[in-house]
Amino acid sequence: SIPLGFFGGIGGASRRGILIKGGNYLEALNKVDTVVFDKTGTLTKGVFQVTQVVNKGELTNADLLEYAAYAESYSNHPIALSIQRAFGREIDARRISGYEEISGHGTKVTMEGRAVLAGNDRLMEQENILYEDPEIPGTIVHLAVDGAYAGYIVIADEIKSDSLKAVKALRDLGVKKLVMLTGDSKRVGEQIGKELALDEIYAELLPDQKVHQLEHLTGKSRSGGNLVFVGDGINDAPVLARADIGVAMGGLGSDAAIEAADIVLMTDEPSKLAEAIKIAKKTRNIVW
Ligand code: ADP
Ligand code: MG
Repeated sequence: SIPLGFFGGIGGASRRGILIKGGNYLEALNKVDTVVFDKTGTLTKGVFQVTQVVNKGELTNADLLEYAAYAESYSNHPIALSIQRAFGREIDARRISGYEEISGHGTKVTMEGRAVLAGNDRLMEQENILYEDPEIPGTIVHLAVDGAYAGYIVIADEIKSDSLKAVKALRDLGVKKLVMLTGDSKRVGEQIGKELALDEIYAELLPDQKVHQLEHLTGKSRSGGNLVFVGDGINDAPVLARADIGVAMGGLGSDAAIEAADIVLMTDEPSKLAEAIKIAKKTRNIVW
């Protein structure tokens, strides 16, 4: 039988916006030694803003932004939404055809007969486009038109103020290792890792590489402690499912993520995980 105290712990947690799917997960929170965070939308706000448009070819900056907005017009990625917002005008869908989104890379579209690519270094390399690699903080979206490099757009995301609080609280609770996984560049990953003083950063990961990296980390933490993965739910479901404890954040995450998660945080504050661990420790003191 399940000790009654677990119900108290689960009920107390739910009143704080932390939904725990079973007493076993509450118990497992007592032995967390590693916490792995997704970056975008989890440690950062996931609200990107275009800060620079830099043309390197024939196009004006305005044209460059227009091409990019059309290339991104069917995407729901936070990067795409920021480019659509910066463009600020309506998209005439008749001007484009053959839209394609390449997960972890970017997008492709034909616009009035011209082949347009918008995406990261990986996409440019895959398409044999010679691109520039500016030493600027932020996420870079490169643009190519008809096989020629056209320039780049700089996009900035911000670290949530709650992320620092989460890191400090988790360390105070004795969590040994804090890790971040991201599909974004090494440069951006390392910047954020440094600001939050995380222990390990794995960047430029495609969605299936995130799963692989998580499995590797789970193997390493088999010294007895549990590994928690915290993600905002966008493309995270397979990773959430493989962690000892999968935590989906935001409450508004995808159904797949909420389904795959063991714990759902109703707010977008990563520090709620530390609160959950505190509740687990208190519950244990009552139960045993
Ligand atoms: P994460 O959530 O860890 O940032 P994603 O897999 O969502 O990872 O994206 C990884 C990278 O792929 C992004 O940082 C970006 O460089 C590129 N990318 C993905 N989708 C798009 C898009 N629609 N437009 C431009 N770049 C994109
Ligand atoms: Mg993400």
